[in-house]
Amino acid sequence: MTEFILARPNGRKIPREDKIFGISNRAKAAIAEKGRDNVINGTIGALLDDEGKLIVLKSVDEVYRQLAPTDYAEYAPIGGTKPFKEAVQKAAFGDHVPDGYLEAVATPGGTGSLRNVISNYSEPGDQVLTSDWHWAPYNTIAGEIGRKIATFELFDADRKFNAKDFAAKAAELLEKQESLVIILNTPAHNPTGYSLTLDDWGKVIETIEECAESGKAIALLVDAAYIDFAGDEDEYRKFLPLLGTLPENVISIVAYSLSKTCTLYGARCGAMICVAKTREIADEFKRVCEFSSRGSWSNSAKIAQVILSRIYSDPELLAKVDEERAGYRNMLLARGKAFSEAAKECGLEIVPYDAGFFVSVPCDDPDAASRLLEEQDIFLVPLAKGIRVSVASIPESACRKIPPLIKEAIEKGC
Ligand code: PLP
Repeated sequence: MTEFILARPNGRKIPREDKIFGISNRAKAAIAEKGRDNVINGTIGALLDDEGKLIVLKSVDEVYRQLAPTDYAEYAPIGGTKPFKEAVQKAAFGDHVPDGYLEAVATPGGTGSLRNVISNYSEPGDQVLTSDWHWAPYNTIAGEIGRKIATFELFDADRKFNAKDFAAKAAELLEKQESLVIILNTPAHNPTGYSLTLDDWGKVIETIEECAESGKAIALLVDAAYIDFAGDEDEYRKFLPLLGTLPENVISIVAYSLSKTCTLYGARCGAMICVAKTREIADEFKRVCEFSSRGSWSNSAKIAQVILSRIYSDPELLAKVDEERAGYRNMLLARGKAFSEAAKECGLEIVPYDAGFFVSVPCDDPDAASRLLEEQDIFLVPLAKGIRVSVASIPESACRKIPPLIKEAIEKGC
């Protein structure tokens, strides 16, 4: 049987079932049959409570319930409403606003920002640079618009950020193409939970400055989807001013998402915010990104734009949202800590982890190990270089329990 009937393959391999959703469906079936207490579903990329229910910030939900029909039924302008564009810059940068010309364009989640950056700052056939451990949809987003993902090794032999390989791969790509898009997902990287330190950032900036000497166009995309679940909001934003120090032929773009920050995953809201050296480059950013939005999803949904604007227009409400989120963030951080400690106790190697929704365990045959774990009703996601555990979706007790079981499965599966 050919893989396609009427649809054109266009060079793509499209699986019949999304791998993660497939595992997740098997986990749900196991829960239905054996009960929640007997199954561990560490596949879900959303924050769940200890009973497996989606956490929705009450303070955000209250704003939602007070909306008027025009707040959600009306079209928003293509680039986003004015109050949203102001609010989202405050949300993304906090007290760490980089120097330069800033412009925000609303997008459907961080995904929309990724798509718009790749389509506007690289050319068909180009390779986009990111780390070897990365969120798999980067490949799909790039591939759908005729680009490919190239990777550098995120960690060196000492388990530190591999600045050397980053520099080598960036230089190699710039030899071959006229422009370069770099995606760095930090802090609380998916799937490893790593956050670039300020020292790592210093090396990234140094490399990009060197690359910029080529005179070619460089776009540095900071995928900050998890920035509000990494730890202290202020501490984890300290790298942002560095984006304002880059030369004129480098544009930095922060992809900010309300999916995790406001627990509004399904409202599909985010923004791409540029830091540009000149007014002209910032204006160009707005023009090209709004044009691309028009030609893909058109306007972004208005509802979450209104919600964020309301939150930022009311300091008391903002404090309430921040406080509520901090409570859940502490719960998440405690789960991550429990997993890391249990891994250390049983001698299970994990990829350097700092914070966030996921922890990754390196292994040679992730599919075999995760199949063995499924037999014990532990559902995790096999990746190319290891297994991803969503500590966001399992209770702290499960985080403590599973490291020895993962170790055993890896040893048996290899
Ligand atoms: N970037 C990373 C690394 C993610 O894990 C996700 C979502 O899981 C996103 C971006 C984008 O999510 P959304 O489009 O919902 O904002």
